[in-house]
Amino acid sequence: MDELQVLIKALEVSADNSILRSHVAKLQFEGERYEEAYENYKIIYDQENDLESLEGMLKSLLELEDYEEALEIVEDEIEERQNWAFGYKVLSECLYDEEEYEEAKTYYEKAVELDTNLRDEEFYEELLNHTGKEKVPLKVINFSAGEEIDGEFEKPKINFENVAGLEDVKESIRSNIIFPLQNPEIYRAYGKSAGGGILLYGPPGCGKTFISMATAGECNAHFVSISITDILDMYLGESEKNLHTLFETARLKAPSIIFIDEIDAIGSSRQGMKNQTSRTLTNQLLIELDSTRNNNENLLVIGATNMPWYVDSAIRRPGRFDRIQFIPPPDTAARIEILKLHLKDRPCEDIDYTFLAKKMKNYSGADIKGVCDFASDRAIKKAMKAGKIVPINTDDLLSGIRILKPSTIEWLKTAKNYATYSNQSGIYDEILEYFEKNK
Ligand code: ATP
Repeated sequence: MDELQVLIKALEVSADNSILRSHVAKLQFEGERYEEAYENYKIIYDQENDLESLEGMLKSLLELEDYEEALEIVEDEIEERQNWAFGYKVLSECLYDEEEYEEAKTYYEKAVELDTNLRDEEFYEELLNHTGKEKVPLKVINFSAGEEIDGEFEKPKINFENVAGLEDVKESIRSNIIFPLQNPEIYRAYGKSAGGGILLYGPPGCGKTFISMATAGECNAHFVSISITDILDMYLGESEKNLHTLFETARLKAPSIIFIDEIDAIGSSRQGMKNQTSRTLTNQLLIELDSTRNNNENLLVIGATNMPWYVDSAIRRPGRFDRIQFIPPPDTAARIEILKLHLKDRPCEDIDYTFLAKKMKNYSGADIKGVCDFASDRAIKKAMKAGKIVPINTDDLLSGIRILKPSTIEWLKTAKNYATYSNQSGIYDEILEYFEKNK
């Protein structure tokens, strides 16, 4: 007689022993004797109304592919058992069987948000295939407040061709990010993992977000953008959960890029941010970044800041945002390209790009876009008067330049001070090089 047979015999003489019955049910389940397991779990559940035997019954029914019975049970129970992650997972599987894919997907995501151990990547892929979703909204539940924030994962349609200039940055991203993400097996062979963290810094509007999206586009990765202030705005204690859920979802969808804007806002060195919320959120971010505790392979986290001097030094330690990249204002050649990119779909005539670009020293990419929009408005006014299309010309763009001033000058002044007087471990060497080149 094997162990199970002995226990079944024992159960015949002590039918009320629910601990013994539970053990028998577990062994029967492990031995793939699902019908018997179900019967024993049911006997216990009818007496004790406990979660363990309820879940045992449901697991057995799923193995028996009796989705109808499982659905009936779970629908009866789910109202009473709040935030019952396993219940949502069962609901999801039953609805999948009924070809109710949208609902199945919603319940699956809910289950995983509540308990990440319920993750089942193959099942999720199936759900996504059936729902035809390329773009998957991430719902983050706030248990106490009952509110939600949305982060959107998407596959960006732009790539490096859409980013003007920044050739050195693209090259560095190609070798340090894209190559490892596309060839993780090579990295694994050398005991390294693709992914990790990189910090982009520079004046506002010079393409930190834009080049990050284009990086995801280059390697066909999912991309999600969040800003720290959005997360900090959440109710106390919820921010960390939101951050964790975001990372978990990104891991499920790997290769993924999480773009975190205003990373300085999380740093404890920023004045006024030394409060408890900021500290716990920083700790949560560090936990997520530390690959020792989490599988961060094929997950790249790009942090961005206009104020690198306020970024918490703990965030820059090895294994976290240990690569740091300056995104400078565009040089003359890049300004020509940005002008061309923003004017390519508008009617234009005899534009002297080089002349204009030379006049736009210290203009950011966003400033240049602003000048192009201004010039378009001016041409539209002329077109309305003339009653026909009037192309944008150099003069329209020049009047934009006269009105819209470059926005990076203040930033460059501050950066020069930090680079000159507090350049610990040479982190701002790239800024010094920039000033050297642009004397
Ligand atoms: P912030 O620090 O304010 O968040 P940022 O550095 O992230 O700014 P982006 O949002 O990436 O700047 O850039 C603003 C806009 O400027 C972009 O959407 C894009 O239209 C334009 N732009 C900036 N840099 C470039 C570039 N190198 N090539 C083409 N367009 C650019």
